[in-house]
Amino acid sequence: MSYYKCMNCGRIVKPEELSKMRGVRCIYCRNKLIIKLRPPIVKMIKAI
Ligand SMILES: [Zn+2]
Repeated sequence: MSYYKCMNCGRIVKPEELSKMRGVRCIYCRNKLIIKLRPPIVKMIKAI
């Protein structure tokens, strides 16, 4: 799962929502410039 961020409006588009659209495009402003974000991985540091 990877998220996409629109460079125009700054909204984060989920891949589920992108699948509804044709191609990789912002569903809010239909901007073509959209970057792929890394999946939010939270590193768990165990406190001993
Ligand atoms: Zn946008």
